[in-house]
Amino acid sequence: QEILLQLKEEITEVEYNRYIKQLDYDSKKSTSDLAVYYAPNTLVCNWIKNKYTSKLEHLFEVKTSNNVTVKITLKDSFDKRKTKKKEEKPTSKSLLNPSHTFDNFMVGGSNQFAYSAVKSVSEKAGEVYNPLFIYGGVGLGKTHLMQAAGNVFQDQGKSVIYTTVEQFLNDFIRHVRNQTMDRFQEKYRKCDVLLIDDIQFLSNKDTIQEEFFHTFEALKGAGKQIILTADKHPKKIGGLEKRLQSRFEWGLVADIQPPELTTKIAIIEKKSEINKVKLSKDIINYIATVIESNVREIEGILSKLHAYSQLMHVDIDLDFTKNVLKDQMQEKTANLTLDNITKFVAKDLNIKPSEITSKGRAKNLVYARRISIYLCRELTQNTMPQLAQYFGMKDHTAISHTIKKINSLIENDEDFKVKIDELTNKLTTNV
Ligand code: ADP
Ligand code: MG
Repeated sequence: QEILLQLKEEITEVEYNRYIKQLDYDSKKSTSDLAVYYAPNTLVCNWIKNKYTSKLEHLFEVKTSNNVTVKITLKDSFDKRKTKKKEEKPTSKSLLNPSHTFDNFMVGGSNQFAYSAVKSVSEKAGEVYNPLFIYGGVGLGKTHLMQAAGNVFQDQGKSVIYTTVEQFLNDFIRHVRNQTMDRFQEKYRKCDVLLIDDIQFLSNKDTIQEEFFHTFEALKGAGKQIILTADKHPKKIGGLEKRLQSRFEWGLVADIQPPELTTKIAIIEKKSEINKVKLSKDIINYIATVIESNVREIEGILSKLHAYSQLMHVDIDLDFTKNVLKDQMQEKTANLTLDNITKFVAKDLNIKPSEITSKGRAKNLVYARRISIYLCRELTQNTMPQLAQYFGMKDHTAISHTIKKINSLIENDEDFKVKIDELTNKLTTNV
């Protein structure tokens, strides 16, 4: 409750009263590294989950110096999952989203291959593709599919660990600090199924790669199933040990492509049914054509449509939808500022934002700076002189020189073009 009140300070009163106030804390189910809150319905649940989970986790971390996972859920689904499990193993980090099931996943040409691969793994753990490596862009359903398999395994009574590279790393650091590495190893090497999300974040982190390598070897040796996801093919993840890269390709590598129009329509229909939002055919078609590919964005729009229509006591018609979507698009471009783009590029390339705007001449800094300048020029309305000032360059000719250079790289270097497309995509589709 205290944490919720702290959150109140950071958000508007309306937001607090409409959403956060409806949360119920469950002190029985919560532990020192898990906080469980119940939401009254799916809509509020999804809305809070998407918007406030990381804020809440941050507040917990500040308050308790623990790495706390915040779980927002519906009371029923939490209880159901708990009672289904046969033996209680330490699972705070393995909590899977119960609505990430195969049934809720719409299959089309774009994701058929990945879907079939995960499905067959879920039917024959450790026997068919091990590891199974899924890769594809943001919001295309990688986590959903991986957890769908996890839910199947969990229902069979297997011990499943679901974690992101980031959580794995934090957990590792905590155990090193507490000198309990034996417990860490026990936990990750004794599970039946290990699901690790967003493997690309292993890039350039040598210590955790080493640890992960041994975990991998132990599990694989014992015939335990491993499923991994990343935003790109293992070959394209830079800063990854050769031995890991080759192991990632041992089983099967499957890609997910952006959904085609028909799949998008099926997804919207499914999501509106799950969230009990009634939408007519023309509205569904409209959303499907406006949203390029990111399915998470589709969910955001459905929640927004529902919330707005309730708040304003109006039906969701096409005009109303258009307005809400316009709003959403503006919000998205409002996030594209020079600072945000620079920060994003810095994070992606593992350097500090201040190094990008510094005068440093190291090769990787110059590379990052050029990319940032190019993206800022493409994605914001800033003029060349403004960019020159921001990036500490002499004048606008230095900027136009950089942009020419990048353009010719894009034309001549396929890998570089892929990188630029990927960054542009992420910057413009992340909600
Ligand atoms: P990723 O991990 O690839 O970034 P997620 O798995 O988190 O993407 O998917 C984002 C959201 O979109 C999730 O809520 C997921 O349920 C939904 N989603 C993605 N693809 C599909 C699909 N084919 N059918 C139904 N829902 C989907
Ligand atoms: Mg994901």
